[in-house]
Amino acid sequence: MNSAGAAWRIRAEIDHDALRHNAAVVRAAIGDQPGIIAVVKAGGYGHGGPEVAKTLARYAAQFGVATLDEARAVRAAVPQKDILLLSPCLPGEREAAVEEGFIPVVSGTAEARAYARLAQDEPVRIHLCIDTGMGRLGVWQEEAIKTAQEIAAIDGIEVESVSTHLPVADSDPDFTAQELAAWDQLAAQLRPILPGAKFHALNSAASLERPQHAADRVRPGLALYGISPLPAFQKLLQPVMTLKTRISLVRDVGAGRGISYGRDFITRKAMRIATLAMGYADGYPRQTSNQGAHVLIRGKRCPILGRITMDQFMVDVSDLPRDVAPGEEVVLFGKQGDEEITVGEVASWAGTITWDILTRLGKRVVTEHLNRR
Ligand SMILES: *Cc1c(COP(=O)(O)O)cnc(C)c1O
Repeated sequence: MNSAGAAWRIRAEIDHDALRHNAAVVRAAIGDQPGIIAVVKAGGYGHGGPEVAKTLARYAAQFGVATLDEARAVRAAVPQKDILLLSPCLPGEREAAVEEGFIPVVSGTAEARAYARLAQDEPVRIHLCIDTGMGRLGVWQEEAIKTAQEIAAIDGIEVESVSTHLPVADSDPDFTAQELAAWDQLAAQLRPILPGAKFHALNSAASLERPQHAADRVRPGLALYGISPLPAFQKLLQPVMTLKTRISLVRDVGAGRGISYGRDFITRKAMRIATLAMGYADGYPRQTSNQGAHVLIRGKRCPILGRITMDQFMVDVSDLPRDVAPGEEVVLFGKQGDEEITVGEVASWAGTITWDILTRLGKRVVTEHLNRR
């Protein structure tokens, strides 16, 4: 994303007070003991990985990212913190991960051996993932004890932590309860095999709802950015990002006119229509077209008309005061006046999830960090 400029067309405002508030909420939920692995992959869910890491350094024992490049950016911001690589390194990335001291995730004995061969003076610290139902990485739970025994016997490897990842923490409470009960039992069997390893399983949803399973650490992402995967906890959190664009043009349009590609929307009466300086190339989802979506202008909800185009889209400003003009701020999500549009609303208009909305912002978005200390 671009650096901040005076005449921005699209701006993501990041409220670091809200970030601290949300970290404190997670801390209160899990109690004093467990460490927090703050998940700042995908550029801190679009909020700025290094900036978010800096602010969260007081709250987080470690940081979690997906890629080496993300790890390097976070390392530069918080050089003293351990950084977990939550996605598997490609074979060609392993050497750099070891040399630079990041903690890679490992899904089996062969992968652990490959890391052991890269050990220099000290053992390579790895993070062993167990698959308890996610089906993405890790050693299947029924083979976990055997694999842990094999890895424990490899010279040049230190298992720093052991984790699982929950596939339905925000949608299937019964499965999640069973999964975590089984995980706690498995963890108890693995501890003596991997002495000193830290155990962690909980994402945002489970950190808030099932803190009794926090074990040694938790791995929240979304909640830190002020969005709860579980609606019941939303009132505790403060959304961190406000996404804004500006009106680029205001036009008076007669009845019977088509608006945007496809002519899906035809005016039934004369309307005042504002064109906005943002499109799907900037991350405003094209799938919100014709779904009853809104933006905020002057604290009022204005309906989106017709399809979102690559760089622009249109909204109805017929009910706003006549002096609405180019250059005025438009809120895509966040608060304006007494109104608020949530990321959750945008996600539901787009038929997707809040994680997807936050992480798709394009290169033309200018990020402004507020309330940094
Ligand atoms: C992304 C991710 C998280 C964070 O998930 P949230 O639902 O955003 O809290 C935790 N653990 C792993 C392994 C992840 O990939």
